[in-house]
Amino acid sequence: MNTPLDRMADFDLTPEQREVRSAVRAFAESEILPYVEEHERAGRYPLELIQKLVPLGYMGPLIPPEYGGSRSDVMTYGIVCEELARVDWVVASVVSVSNSLVANSILNFGSAAQMERWLPRIADGTCLTSACLTEPDGGTDLASMRTLARRVSGGWLLSGTKIFISHAAHAGLFFVVASVDRDARHKGVTAFLVDPASEGISIGEFPMRTLKRDNLAEVHMQDVFVPDEGLLGEPGRGFPVLGAALDTGRFSVAARCVGQAQRCLDLALPYAMNREAFGQKIGEFQLVQQKIADMTCRTQAARQIVYQLGRMKDAGVARASMESSVAKLMASQAAVANALDAIQVHGGHGLSEEYEVGRLLLEAKSLEFGEGTSELHTKLIAEFMLGIRAQ
Ligand SMILES: Cc1cc2nc3c(=O)[nH]c(=O)nc-3n(C[C@H](O)[C@H](O)[C@H](O)COP(=O)(O)OP(=O)(O)OC[C@H]3O[C@@H](n4cnc5c(N)ncnc54)[C@H](O)[C@@H]3O)c2cc1C
Repeated sequence: MNTPLDRMADFDLTPEQREVRSAVRAFAESEILPYVEEHERAGRYPLELIQKLVPLGYMGPLIPPEYGGSRSDVMTYGIVCEELARVDWVVASVVSVSNSLVANSILNFGSAAQMERWLPRIADGTCLTSACLTEPDGGTDLASMRTLARRVSGGWLLSGTKIFISHAAHAGLFFVVASVDRDARHKGVTAFLVDPASEGISIGEFPMRTLKRDNLAEVHMQDVFVPDEGLLGEPGRGFPVLGAALDTGRFSVAARCVGQAQRCLDLALPYAMNREAFGQKIGEFQLVQQKIADMTCRTQAARQIVYQLGRMKDAGVARASMESSVAKLMASQAAVANALDAIQVHGGHGLSEEYEVGRLLLEAKSLEFGEGTSELHTKLIAEFMLGIRAQ
């Protein structure tokens, strides 16, 4: 559906970026959207939908062509994430986890052998990935992680439990953070590339009230041997790896939030102009119009901030920590607020299985947790602004 917002959304995109937007949108609407509800109801992971991304290059937008990827610019990557998330949280998450968190970390901190081994497989869709960060005792305070890495001859033994792990049951590579020295807190945190088929790994269900189709999992590790080739960066230097990964990760999550916020608006508009009450279209009532206007403003405000961040990255700003927090915080809150408004416009039908908007609420809410909660980003922004924390 074309709306007057399209002109504003696309205004300062290059012709190539506009082309990518319309190509991803057309693909997502015809090849993914029709199956999402079915997958959610069946709790079925959308493997076959993910494979459709491969020939179009959407699995590797941050991976250089020499490793089989389709790397262009960061803005274009954001547009791909936005448009995929507009129709499906899970498919967008596969792209964003694999690119922002995993491939990007390998590119920034990996050895030539790690790049050659993993990047082509991520780009060609034969190796999905998971980021294993969160633990039962907490996800926000990563310096307190309990998963331990013990040095042994030729490698490391990892023991601990990670929870909430997206894609874990289907992944061919885990990006794991563990501590080599818990007393050293963040200076003990170390990043590893781990084969999920390694002895000592077991994957259990982690049942959620939402995103049944993501098959979120617990990953238990008991003396899992990771050879030296699996160390990503240096021992005790996992926090810089995480910092760089999350910096780009927050950009792609924010772009996904814009896609979800836009979808809520897309669904509310036709409903408001088709549904009637008191002999007129509900879209003619001022209180419904208020919601439409709020949703429009939130979506575009979040988009502008996300695009600004993308352009900063394309201009060579390697780390944009405060800006990433601003984008992630504002865009995730916009997605949640738009889902609530879209449900309200739909009345009780907003919570029926017939309509998509009810599902979008919990999916949007989950984006307020992943890659830093709203509270964490609020705290970071204030600390940057007050000079308590340096960029
Ligand atoms: C759908 C979904 C998918 C996910 N996928 C993954 C994944 O693939 N990999 C992965 O590793 N994790 C994943 N997560 C986990 C997510 O990253 C964590 O939920 C998040 O980091 C928060 O951790 P927690 O849930 O343990 O909350 P806690 O850290 O226990 O925090 C609880 C509450 O306290 C607040 N809080 C904590 N510290 C502070 C502070 N200093 N100041 C103010 N408030 C504070 C938090 O903001 C939050 O509101 C996923 C989560 C969801 C919902």
